[in-house]
Amino acid sequence: MRAEIIVTGTELLSGSVLDTNSLYLSEELMLIGLETAFKTVVGDDEKDMEEALRRSMGRVEAVIVTGGLGPTEDDVTRKVIAKIVKKRLVLNEDALKAIHARLIGRDYATSNDRQALVPSGARLLQNPVGIAPGFFIDEEGLFIAVLPGVPKELRAMFSEGLRPILEERFGGKTFIRRRVVRTCGMSESAVNQAIQDTLKRGVPVVGLTAKETGVDIRVIARESSAEQSQARVDRTEAMIREKLGDAVYGVDGQELEEVVGALLKQRRLKLAVAESCTGGLIGGRITSIAGSSEYFERGVVAYSDLSKTELLGVPRDLIERHGAVSSEVAAAMALGIRQAARADLGLAVTGIAGPGGGTEQKPVGLVIIALATIQGVKTVEHRFLGDREQVRLKASQMALDMVRMYLIG
Ligand code: AMP
Ligand code: MG
Repeated sequence: MRAEIIVTGTELLSGSVLDTNSLYLSEELMLIGLETAFKTVVGDDEKDMEEALRRSMGRVEAVIVTGGLGPTEDDVTRKVIAKIVKKRLVLNEDALKAIHARLIGRDYATSNDRQALVPSGARLLQNPVGIAPGFFIDEEGLFIAVLPGVPKELRAMFSEGLRPILEERFGGKTFIRRRVVRTCGMSESAVNQAIQDTLKRGVPVVGLTAKETGVDIRVIARESSAEQSQARVDRTEAMIREKLGDAVYGVDGQELEEVVGALLKQRRLKLAVAESCTGGLIGGRITSIAGSSEYFERGVVAYSDLSKTELLGVPRDLIERHGAVSSEVAAAMALGIRQAARADLGLAVTGIAGPGGGTEQKPVGLVIIALATIQGVKTVEHRFLGDREQVRLKASQMALDMVRMYLIG
């Protein structure tokens, strides 16, 4: 079964808002067993929208439309749909009641009532977090659902209202299970090479996405029972782990700061961080995890040379001799923060995030990470590609990964 997603809104075509709704929807549809065959983006224009809708109706079994359900003049979705399915727009009493209930004590305008208009015969989809209800029409072999454009409302309405309806109508023939295996420290081509055999086997589908945080491997199995799909996904994950070993740090939505946090907690160790070029990014990531106070002692942003000396005890002449971006200074920073914080682990990062400040010997993207532990201090030099943002994110990721590698031995 194939679906088309039509996202509406002129703002999506003018470079001001990124369409995230179709990303969410196509993933959700896939899990039900509906393959997204087309995505269409169309502005708030009746004729264009009508054309887009007519085209979709001829080529897929299910059409999901988002946006244009608001109370203003440019919200034309319901009108266009009514025209296409040759139904009148009627005021739905339940929808009207829901809208009034939502707007009690807030500024109500009669234009809000327009949001209770739906094509006759359409069934309502409640909006648990907003005003405009959605609706769907399931007639003569065609399924059209209409959802709000506001991403939060769309998600709530989809998961509470539309998903069970789609499952009932389209699901159950194939069962999809998926997993993302997350790696860091390996290039996309290296990962590809290592798991080539797994990729070649074809089923399940395996795909790679290279991000600043590393390479994510997506595994999707589609079988005739949920158990079979699950077993396939599990087996593929095991094969990938066997090939990639410690490069795998987690699965699905797991972030490295979470994994490192869990390891520190388990081993009852405390971490302190001294950051130069990442400017607090690492400390920010670590403390984004609830409960991090159990293992995070402190973080220092030591940006200037003076602060490296004053706060971390890095000797001034060491900076003068080797430069602030050097293995020597990184090591001294790591030892300094470990001692100052009386922590088990001292992590330090110094580098050139760019775009300026690079030289031939020390180009933009050069980042040195040091980890001081009871066993002494280790430094690793990286050369990251990318803009300032990318370099900083990659640096924070590899720094966290250095801690992870130490903790897993
Ligand atoms: P609408 O339902 O057309 O009134 O949309 C309300 C707001 O939701 C718009 O102003 C956008 O900021 C946002 N929005 C609409 N469609 C999308 C989309 N496809 N992806 C992300 N945001 C969207
Ligand atoms: Mg709109």
